[in-house]
Amino acid sequence: MSAVDAAVVGSGPNGLAAAVVLARAGLRVEVYEAAGTLGGGLRGADLFDSGVVHDICSAVHPMGMSSPFFREFGLDARVDMLRPEISYAHPLDDGRAALAWHDLDATCAGLGPDGARWRRLMEPLLAHGTELAGLLLSDLRRPPGLRAAPALLSRVLLHGTRLGPLAFRGEKAPALLAGAAAHVTGPLPSLPGAAVGLLLAQLAHGPGWPVPRGGSRSIADALAADIQAHGGVLHTGREITDLRELDGVRAVLLDVSPTALESLAGGRLPPRYARALRRYRYGPAAGKADFLVSEPIPWSAPEVGRAVTVHLGGTAREVFRQETATARGLPGERPFVLVVDPAVADPGRALPGRRPVWAYAHLPHGSTRDPLPLVRAAIERHAPGFTDTVVAERGVSGAALARYNPNYVGGDIATGALGLRQSVFRPVVRWDPYRTPLPGVYLCSAATPPGPGVHGMCGLLAARSALRREFGLRVPPLGRSGAGARGARRDGAAAE
Ligand SMILES: Cc1cc2nc3c(=O)[nH]c(=O)nc-3n(C[C@H](O)[C@H](O)[C@H](O)COP(=O)(O)OP(=O)(O)OC[C@H]3O[C@@H](n4cnc5c(N)ncnc54)[C@H](O)[C@@H]3O)c2cc1C
Repeated sequence: MSAVDAAVVGSGPNGLAAAVVLARAGLRVEVYEAAGTLGGGLRGADLFDSGVVHDICSAVHPMGMSSPFFREFGLDARVDMLRPEISYAHPLDDGRAALAWHDLDATCAGLGPDGARWRRLMEPLLAHGTELAGLLLSDLRRPPGLRAAPALLSRVLLHGTRLGPLAFRGEKAPALLAGAAAHVTGPLPSLPGAAVGLLLAQLAHGPGWPVPRGGSRSIADALAADIQAHGGVLHTGREITDLRELDGVRAVLLDVSPTALESLAGGRLPPRYARALRRYRYGPAAGKADFLVSEPIPWSAPEVGRAVTVHLGGTAREVFRQETATARGLPGERPFVLVVDPAVADPGRALPGRRPVWAYAHLPHGSTRDPLPLVRAAIERHAPGFTDTVVAERGVSGAALARYNPNYVGGDIATGALGLRQSVFRPVVRWDPYRTPLPGVYLCSAATPPGPGVHGMCGLLAARSALRREFGLRVPPLGRSGAGARGARRDGAAAE
């Protein structure tokens, strides 16, 4: 009999969220992480031995501020979440820039004739902001509330099609929406792209698009501290290669890709489920570029320098065209690029003459191309002289990103394409997508609903399923579960 009740394999935000929930329910939990440090997509490092910390993966956390898991966890009370006054900017070719200010009025004022249209688009979503995040960050089987659904649905049906930009007169407002939709790497326009784009655009005027003080690893540290405070044990440098290594543990939660699940199971999955896993599709890659620069980015439109996050992709139609070509595997010279300058909101991230700049380009699945020249050219187009400020740099191709973290199969940082079907049915068509056919084995990574991003919801929902089925426990809100299993309600028989 194992001394461990639950094992979590992988310490990304979902693995850590699952471990928080399980440890707070009073279980003896152990987390096994293959890498030398915890955090998965939350890791940071001093890449150029300069004293400056660079986020290796995630950097900006609109979903972290709105996710039910992190709200219950009290993220903003544990980590200083620093919100820039401009949530995101989108420079256009002639020196103009579309700006999503945190302040809705300022945004509308900058959009000229489209200001009133942006307000009409956003206000009903903002009125139901919490419900909207609750809906889109749920498993969609039992959404917590549907009050936001009518406003969302009508907007998704328009902006998920080529008619979307026609709802505006100018180019700025459609570009703002297209840039937010492009966070769903894949062909655009699309219904999932519109849903996520509208959520992110709305969050820009609500909780904002913050960066954690000190970088994303602060979030991993807060989660790890909570697990330890509730008796959990964290192992780094410990890769699990076969589920038999965890024999005797009642619940095993896997923060891994569907491909890795099949390999860990070593032929023990029922053939039908294994075939369904093999049909799971991965999306385009991200090629990551890290720069150490001597000064803030010299944007042609100076206000862009007041945003942490900048989208580079031209007009909405250009973004749609590039994203669709990338998803079809066609390499282009002007891919969609995201740039983050975290020191805009967190000046402590910069040292005299040294500042981190984070960027990635969307590239075809499995791309081995060095993203550096593409990213440098994209920034230079809107910030002439940027290259002269670069002190040190490194490029990580999509293929190299997959070697860094096996969850990013082929460089797909979403751990699975986000077409309409896979947005709902991740990784396979099942009522409980977290539960696998292997007794006590659950999937809790971004390959389950609600999908990618640092929100911890895949971990929370998988942990709830495991607690209910394996231990007959229903989870109370995190804030009230300090008493551990004593605070959890026993159902008697486990569900099903
Ligand atoms: C370059 C980049 C930029 C991003 N930017 C943002 C952003 O700004 N905001 C945002 O919200 N999201 C962003 N994301 C996405 C976000 O990081 C992911 O969606 C999120 O980290 C997924 O969390 P996860 O827990 O499912 O998996 P991951 O964070 O990928 O963690 C999985 C962990 O499991 C470990 N593991 C896997 N297999 C095993 C095994 N067999 N044994 C032991 N350990 C194992 C891995 O080493 C890894 O640490 C970005 C991602 C990348 C790569």
